[in-house]
Formats: sequence, C-alpha cells, structure tokens
Amino acid sequence: MNILVAGAHGKTGLQIVKLLTEREHNVLAMIRDDAQSDEMEKLGATPFVANLEGDIEFAVEGAEAVIFAAGSGPNTGEDKTLSVDRDGAVKMIESCERNGVERFILLSSVGTDHPEEGPEKLQHYLKAKAESEERLEKSNLNYTIVRPGMLNNDPETNHIIAQESLKGKIGQISRSDVALSIVESIENPNTYRKTFEIIGGGKMEVEKALNNL
Ligand code: NAP
Repeated sequence: MNILVAGAHGKTGLQIVKLLTEREHNVLAMIRDDAQSDEMEKLGATPFVANLEGDIEFAVEGAEAVIFAAGSGPNTGEDKTLSVDRDGAVKMIESCERNGVERFILLSSVGTDHPEEGPEKLQHYLKAKAESEERLEKSNLNYTIVRPGMLNNDPETNHIIAQESLKGKIGQISRSDVALSIVESIENPNTYRKTFEIIGGGKMEVEKALNNL
C-alpha cells in the first residue's frame, strides 16, 4: 500500500515509518527538512519535503492512505498548535477528500472529548486536536482516530488497553506501542470509522485489543 506519513521524522513517526517499510508498504515520508531525507531513505521510505503551514495539495498524490503523526510539540506557542495540529490536519483531510484518498489515520490524544476538563496549559492543544477530529469524523473518509495517553520512549510491549473511552483513566503508553497500534489499524476493518483511546499495560496483544473494540 502507498502510505503517506505526515510527521515522518517525529519520535512516533519514525517508528511508524520503520514498521511500515518492514511490512513492505511503500512509505511517502513527509518531512520539513531535506537534511532528514537520508535517514528516511535508509529506512526504505521515499522522502519529500512539505510544510503543513504551506501548500500540501501535491503531497497526497499517489497515496492510498494517510497517517497524520505530526504535531507542533510542547515548545511552540498556541499559534503553531492551531496552524499545525488543527489547520494542518484539516488541510490534509480536505486534500484527501478532493483527491480520492480514502483511508486516514489521525494520531490524536486522550482528553480531546472534554478539552475544558484538561489541565489549563493543555486546553488549547486539546481543543485544536478536538477540532481536527471533528472535521475528520464529518468527512466521508474511512478514518481511524487513535487517542493515546501520555507518550514515553519505553520499548514496544505489543500489549495495550484499547477502548472507545477509557472514561478518564490516566495512563502512559510507549511511542513504539502507539506506532504498532496505528500500523496494525491500517488494514483492520474493526478500526474503520472509529475513534478510540489507548494506554499501555494491557493484557491483550495489540491485534486482539483492536479486534475487541
Ligand atoms: P514529535 O516527535 O514532536 O514529532 C512531530 C513531528 O511533526 C516532527 O517530525 C515535526 O517535524 C513534524 N511537524 C511539526 N510541524 C510541522 C509542519 N509545520 N509541517 C510538517 N511537519 C511538521 O511528536 P511525538 O512526540 O512523536 O508525538 C506525536 C503526536 O502525538 C503529536 O501530534 C502529539 O501531539 C501527540 N500526542 C502526544 C502526547 C505526549 O504525551 N507527548 C500524548 C498524546 C498525543 P520536525 O522533525 O521538522 O520538527
């Protein structure tokens, strides 16, 4: 499958790219900085430079699925949260609609169902993510919205807790297990047009947890 990964050089994005190329998908790796091209090529991906704050209409050409793993990160201002996490995602969703790319996986976050109940300093971020989720849910795309708990850099465990709502249960999950959950979702019909939350520490392997949603 030809899969575009936005945020391909991010901490989670890199692991998504690695898993996809290992599974022989053709990865179109969207990066902002050409200096990251070599690393992408070494992973077996085809890099291209594009910025979510600029023109990305050309980016989805040839893609059969999009994984949106980009984010402005915690060290930028609210303006970047809006222009990347919300508007960048919406622009990519609308570009998929126009260009017939049907499958879209959005890496979001727990807490987006009630941003006003989140920690004050995260509320703008949760609201931006919630608005991108809303746009995707309203689209005619075959979407999956994955909302992980707090991310860490622990190794992959292949065990998660996945539920449509964790009902406020707080937990962490490794970026490796998030990447695996996203990659396993791509062709799993039980994740189609669904939004779900994931944290680590579960008893079920990722595939089974996704089949149980
Ligand atoms: P990360 O390492 O910060 O990676 C984000 C990626 O997005 C980077 O590759 C970055 O490019 C790219 N990006 C930023 N602005 C861009 C732009 N204008 N155009 C194109 N690409 C752009 O992210 P992460 O820690 O793996 O997190 C992945 C996602 O999970 C984020 O959306 C985050 O909000 C979400 N999340 C995080 C947590 C948490 O606990 N941290 C919890 C739940 C969900 P550069 O490499 O050029 O900087």
